[in-house]
Amino acid sequence: MKYISTRNKNYSCTAAEAIRDGLANDGGLFVPETIPSLSKADFEKLCEMSYEERAAFVLSKFLDDYSYDELLGYTKNAYGRFYGEDPCPLVNVDENLYVLELWHGPTCAFKDMALTMLPHLLVGARKKTGETSKTLILVATSGDTGKAALEGFRDVEGVDIIVFYPSQGVSDMQKLQMRTQQGNNVYVCAIEGNFDDAQSAVKTIFNDDEIKAKLLKKNYKLSSANSINWGRLAPQIAYYISAYCDLLNFEEIEFGDKVNFCVPSGNFGNILAGYYAYKMGLPVNKFICASNSNKVLTDFFKSGTYDRNREFYKTMSPSMDILISSNLERLLFDISNHNDVLTKERMEKLKKEGKYTISKEELAEIQKIFAAGFTTEEETKAAIFSENDFDGYVMDTHTAVAMSTYDAYAQETEDETPAVIVSTASAYKFPSDVLEAITGERENDAFKATEKLNEETALEIPEPLKGLKDREVRFSDVINKADVAKAVLDYIDRK
Ligand SMILES: *Cc1c(COP(=O)(O)O)cnc(C)c1O
Repeated sequence: MKYISTRNKNYSCTAAEAIRDGLANDGGLFVPETIPSLSKADFEKLCEMSYEERAAFVLSKFLDDYSYDELLGYTKNAYGRFYGEDPCPLVNVDENLYVLELWHGPTCAFKDMALTMLPHLLVGARKKTGETSKTLILVATSGDTGKAALEGFRDVEGVDIIVFYPSQGVSDMQKLQMRTQQGNNVYVCAIEGNFDDAQSAVKTIFNDDEIKAKLLKKNYKLSSANSINWGRLAPQIAYYISAYCDLLNFEEIEFGDKVNFCVPSGNFGNILAGYYAYKMGLPVNKFICASNSNKVLTDFFKSGTYDRNREFYKTMSPSMDILISSNLERLLFDISNHNDVLTKERMEKLKKEGKYTISKEELAEIQKIFAAGFTTEEETKAAIFSENDFDGYVMDTHTAVAMSTYDAYAQETEDETPAVIVSTASAYKFPSDVLEAITGERENDAFKATEKLNEETALEIPEPLKGLKDREVRFSDVINKADVAKAVLDYIDRK
């Protein structure tokens, strides 16, 4: 299968090359030229499989230069590191309402679903393409990606990883998780500003030929672990299909019945993976894209105009505090029937003017499968509380945004399709806010809040978050965004 760039469809490469490079040379994102499809017989087979097998099966459809057995080795290794029996359990919380818990991995957030896989895919890609240089992974993180990438890549041979996070934009727990990171091939650094500052600074490096030449002299080539890498996106397709198989196995639905997925969205990677699953033949009625007060995606899905010129809010769901949703480029490319010139134009407009508008026809096409809504801070708190009150299910702030957005959607549309709320983090990653929502009491110390939350709810503290308090802080640098390139070169010099 060929992979092409969203900004130049004549540029094509293999899956391994797309994963190795992360981003196309023209700044576009890699997408498969065609989407493989799943038959009814495939679904029947998938229903009998473990999650590791399902994921390897789905991936083998997209990554045809990797064998199924090779991929199964990766998925077993990656998801074997998760705690509990099922890497992504589907939990019934109400009639026709399920929560897909994607946070049973080493960092207790959904990014683990892909970031435990990416290092294997990348190391495999380097071998397949005969790459002899080392790989330097650069990550801009709004919180969870950074830690998940650090865990995934730590001490992986031939790879180094540098993570930049916004000094003001991540939770205390997220910060501590990153600053205490172990491993001999890792560096973590804060950038003054918000996530978009960090992301654009890192993107600049990817487009800077001078730095790339300097790195190459030291035998390093750049790659990305951000959700723009196809190796990040592809493993996420599997859990949508797996959740559907679970619903079939629970006898909640019959084959062919449609389901809704509501996804708390930021960079648009998670929900986009769902869209690819749908293009493979997964019976979906609607994807509901849920935002917090940074509702740039909600406005886009309702009006067809993407406009990042707006106030930026810091919310209690920081992993969704994003005004540029990079993965939307892949949807634009798809919905415009692979119009690379138009996609490029729009992305250039976004860079220059901060906005673009798609055609009425394209918007109508998108609205057939996507709905969108947003949830305020007050509503987020209320969602955490009412659900807890209702049947004891405790959710994190991001999941609460999705739950609340879905409630509003279902009321407005009277849509009674069975729904899966995609849950992206453990409540213990945001213990102060979750505790406050449940008890009305604020405890800003994340560790004390964790203990109290544990007493209040009897919800188990995930294994990976225990003992964090006593770990040594290894990284405390804070830099200006203009100095990102220097920080990268300094790290390589220190090696
Ligand atoms: C990254 C993240 C999101 C947003 O996912 P996208 O793929 O960027 O849309 C939502 N919730 C949590 C907890 C996250 O870490």
